[in-house]
Amino acid sequence: MKKFLATLTLLLACGCTQAQDDAAKAIGGLLQGLMRGNQNNNAPASPQGGLGLSFGGNKGSGNAVNVGELAGLLSQSIEQIDEPKEIQIGRHLAAVLVGAKPLHPNAALQRYVNRLGRWISLQTPRPQLPWTFGVLDDEGYNAFAAPGGYIFVTKGLIDRMADEADLASVLAHEMAHVVGKHHLKAIQKSAQSGLLTRALATQVGGGVGGALSEQLLLLGRDLYSRGLDQSDEFEADRIGVTYATAAGYDPYGLLAVLQQMAATPGDNPAYALTFSTHPSTTARLDQLEQAMGQRLDAYANKPRIPMAARLAQATR
Ligand SMILES: [Zn+2]
Repeated sequence: MKKFLATLTLLLACGCTQAQDDAAKAIGGLLQGLMRGNQNNNAPASPQGGLGLSFGGNKGSGNAVNVGELAGLLSQSIEQIDEPKEIQIGRHLAAVLVGAKPLHPNAALQRYVNRLGRWISLQTPRPQLPWTFGVLDDEGYNAFAAPGGYIFVTKGLIDRMADEADLASVLAHEMAHVVGKHHLKAIQKSAQSGLLTRALATQVGGGVGGALSEQLLLLGRDLYSRGLDQSDEFEADRIGVTYATAAGYDPYGLLAVLQQMAATPGDNPAYALTFSTHPSTTARLDQLEQAMGQRLDAYANKPRIPMAARLAQATR
């Protein structure tokens, strides 16, 4: 706890504006790249059945290497997949997400979420990743992560956040998935269980060129429709709270978000994908409340930063 406090104090004192500006510039370029990729690949929606987002049909999203490399890569242990490879895989998976829904056209909104996300990322054990945040132009309530530091939230989710601490807690939850390599482990598991082999066997056309991105798209679509293991979700809730708290936000932000979700009717179509890919909200609340106890109360009761006012200020 002492170390945590020291880090917190140091980080709050430094302000880190220059780092944030530099990061925002770098991210702007990456986002533009992703946007261009999307324009070239207007994906027809796949019949996933009532999900807020569907992950279908996006083709050819990146520099294809070869399929042997991917198969070899994913048959390695997680420790053997180095950071550049992890980032490369993440970029392909990010393209699945941006292929399903385009990025929101409001550049100021994108910059705001990147500044917020980059600040929180500095509190994680992997601040050196090329953290990139995107707002998807979708009214559904969703947040996604891809390996290497790619995080997406829908505009519909942002619109339902009451306070900046709530949005910070959602971003921090997704960042915990990246730090824990949850998606990387999940696609590796899928690949090893034979999905990749079957996909290769059924591939028609395209030859070997493009195979890497094609297969990653398939694995990604499967993963984002199915969700992660429940234990990874509970872990991301617990760890995410520590990142958001270290970034200076009220530790109860995520509990507020979960309480709002718990009060939402289960058949609300905007929440369909979030509900189907996560453990029950009651179970998440129970687990998180147990894990937090009163240990973070000293950091609670921060001044409120109403989301609407923050957005008005950030995007004027
Ligand atoms: Zn999650």
